Amino acid sequence: MNNYAEILNKCSRCGGCQAHCPLYTETGREPFVARGKIELLENLQSGNLEWNDTLAEIFSTCLLCGSCTENCPNGVRTDKLIMSARKELVDARGLPIIKKNIFHHFLKYNGRLNKAGQLLAIYQKSGLQKLLRTSGILKVFPMDLAKIESILPEISGKSFRNNLPISRGISHPKLKVAYFTGCVTNLVNPQVGYSILKILEANDVEVIVPEQVCCGIPAIASGDLKTGRFLAEENIKHFTGLSVDYIVMDCASCLSTWLEYPELFSSDEAAGLMPKLVDINRFLVEILDIRINPENELGIKVTYHDPCHLKRTPGGKTSPRELLKRLSPSYEFVEMDMADRCCGSAGSFNLTHYVLSQKVAQHKINAILDSNAKIVASACPSCIMQLQHSLKNNNSDIQVKHTVELVAQCLNS
Ligand code: SF4
Ligand code: SF4
Repeated sequence: MNNYAEILNKCSRCGGCQAHCPLYTETGREPFVARGKIELLENLQSGNLEWNDTLAEIFSTCLLCGSCTENCPNGVRTDKLIMSARKELVDARGLPIIKKNIFHHFLKYNGRLNKAGQLLAIYQKSGLQKLLRTSGILKVFPMDLAKIESILPEISGKSFRNNLPISRGISHPKLKVAYFTGCVTNLVNPQVGYSILKILEANDVEVIVPEQVCCGIPAIASGDLKTGRFLAEENIKHFTGLSVDYIVMDCASCLSTWLEYPELFSSDEAAGLMPKLVDINRFLVEILDIRINPENELGIKVTYHDPCHLKRTPGGKTSPRELLKRLSPSYEFVEMDMADRCCGSAGSFNLTHYVLSQKVAQHKINAILDSNAKIVASACPSCIMQLQHSLKNNNSDIQVKHTVELVAQCLNS
């Protein structure tokens, strides 16, 4: 067992985290809130408990949303405790078989991921998906496969990074950036990537898209630090030594994972890259200070959902909102209630804990509906997929877009 003592000892057992934990709100169960997990970890550390199926399930049931830490009077980093516990669990019992296969045989290999994306696109476009859904056959599988399958958004099937448009070339660029695309933009929604290229080119920023692999968050959050380290080292190798001013990202989860690289892997190269990392919203607002001036006075109401992984970074709350405000009069920004509450996506949590995840999402959906917005914008592809799915479950036709998709649209107006 790792030495958690320092963090564990900071907890005064006040129970304040109960009011802020989205999972405690839904379940009312102490093991799902920070204090309950801390109690269990102390018992594990002292040898009163050993890892078993129940404990494995409890420690996998956390959104890593950070809400408990943000509101803890003693600043207990529950997310760090849970990540350490998950690593201990993997060391003690290994990874679940599905995760093991995905992390070890797909995540490290772009070619295999691209092939999987192509097969999923064929599955969706060939009519097979429709056939299986209407036949009801998915319901006979364990794990509620029908529900899990229904989360799948429309997959593009064409890797963004393998289909980059030819740049018109910028003779005297203002800035030069390297773009880390993340897996979802690369394989699911390349429109986000094309939007970023279009916006940056229109603002005289030269963009390069270096070779790269998954940021590692699925493996790291599951306790598989070996795979996480492999992926981090690959990315650090590809981005070190580039002659660029910034490394831009469109995914809040990728950015937060990169920001953890130096701490997770004690790498000097990783530490050297940190000052260059920037979320695309912040880059456009604080660094480029772009002016969009859309001509169409459509006044379409748009609201914004804060990804947990972005809202605590510098400018993470203000930049996306400022960007949306600059889309007036085409879009009218409206704030929704609980904009910074977790949507329940949490990487693969919505797949492994579908029902609980949808209960968490419902609060967000109610707030979106109350806002009267026609569009929800966000800055995390994982949140975007979750919101699209949950809105569909609510028979809503409200669209969910990445902020940069709206900006790129306005460049045409
Ligand atoms: S984690 Fe923080 S808020 Fe929760 S019981 Fe401990 S000290 Fe209180
Ligand atoms: S990180 Fe979020 S889900 Fe996990 S215990 Fe804290 S508040 Fe609850």
